[in-house]
Amino acid sequence: MFKALIVEKNDEGKTSAAVGEISEDQLPEGEVLVAVEYSTVNYKDGLCIGPGGGLVRNYPHVPGIDFSGTVEASDDARYKPGDKVVLTGWRVGENRWGGYAQKARVKADMLVPLPEGLSTKQAMAVGTAGFTAMLAVMALEDHGIKDGPVLVTGAAGGVGSVATAILANLGHQVAGVTGRPDSSDYITSLGATQIVAREELSETVKRPLESETWGGCVDAVGGAMLARVLGQLQYGASVAAIGLAGGANLPATVVPFLLRGVNLLGIDSVMQPYDNRLRAWQRIAKDLPMDKLEAMVKPATLDDLPQLGADILQGQVQGRVVVDVN
Ligand code: NDP
Repeated sequence: MFKALIVEKNDEGKTSAAVGEISEDQLPEGEVLVAVEYSTVNYKDGLCIGPGGGLVRNYPHVPGIDFSGTVEASDDARYKPGDKVVLTGWRVGENRWGGYAQKARVKADMLVPLPEGLSTKQAMAVGTAGFTAMLAVMALEDHGIKDGPVLVTGAAGGVGSVATAILANLGHQVAGVTGRPDSSDYITSLGATQIVAREELSETVKRPLESETWGGCVDAVGGAMLARVLGQLQYGASVAAIGLAGGANLPATVVPFLLRGVNLLGIDSVMQPYDNRLRAWQRIAKDLPMDKLEAMVKPATLDDLPQLGADILQGQVQGRVVVDVN
């Protein structure tokens, strides 16, 4: 038996999460059994620890969309006992049991070998949030980042923090949007040189084109803010849309696409093909300064997860949480 965070649903449909014990034979099928070392807390984890948000179908459930650890047993030639591995996405922790447990069993195709230069702890400081931030930066680079400030929305959150640190380290000027004024020092400590108050960008579009300001944008917020950003991008610049912390609607006009040739790039971390996963993790090991990453991290245990899940849904988690499941 080993420890896990187990979410139960009662007859009235109400969910509750608590640390309990499970056994290896309860784990889902898969070729690789991993002794989990660390996991983390993403917005989706908040949903899966709590009411499910339509992501979880069967209860009891073990959430945790990310984990890192050491292979304990493997029926796949690519992995052997002792290998260090990382998992993000593939709906692990949503439609199958995930990383909030001391062991996890998954398909070999879902894993990535731990990139050289990263520890299992650092890999979870990165997690889906940091991995997505890197995918967004890579997409912006592929389309060309213009001179001038690159905007990061939701800058004090998980994706925003990592995006800020990577972009600044690559030599870009970074402007961070935040709704929490007391996070300004934190965001500048990650390398941003400008703070934009959330209110400045939360009003819906009145003029489809505003002055050409941003050389690119990593957007974690969506909604009215993304619509405003489209009208403020420089000619030919791009925004990588990664999140919907501020809403799923896009109350925009097509004018910025037609008159400024701007690009709206969609980023999905969950079903990302293996080659691009490897590329992103290697770029993380190279381009994300580890001192900045460590400054973002708050440690936690399995027992802290019910509270942290509620906090992240309220936008109250700053930076990244690393959960030591042991
Ligand atoms: P966090 O909660 O850590 O960060 C989100 C940040 O957005 C908050 O910290 C806050 O930043 C800002 N924010 C919150 N609510 C609002 C609001 N109503 N209006 C404007 N800004 C708001 O979450 P993550 O960084 O982990 O994830 C961010 C988003 O990205 C989520 O929507 C998540 O579902 C999505 N996501 C998508 C992925 C993909 O594959 N595309 C992968 C991972 C995440 P501040 O306090 O600085 O204002």
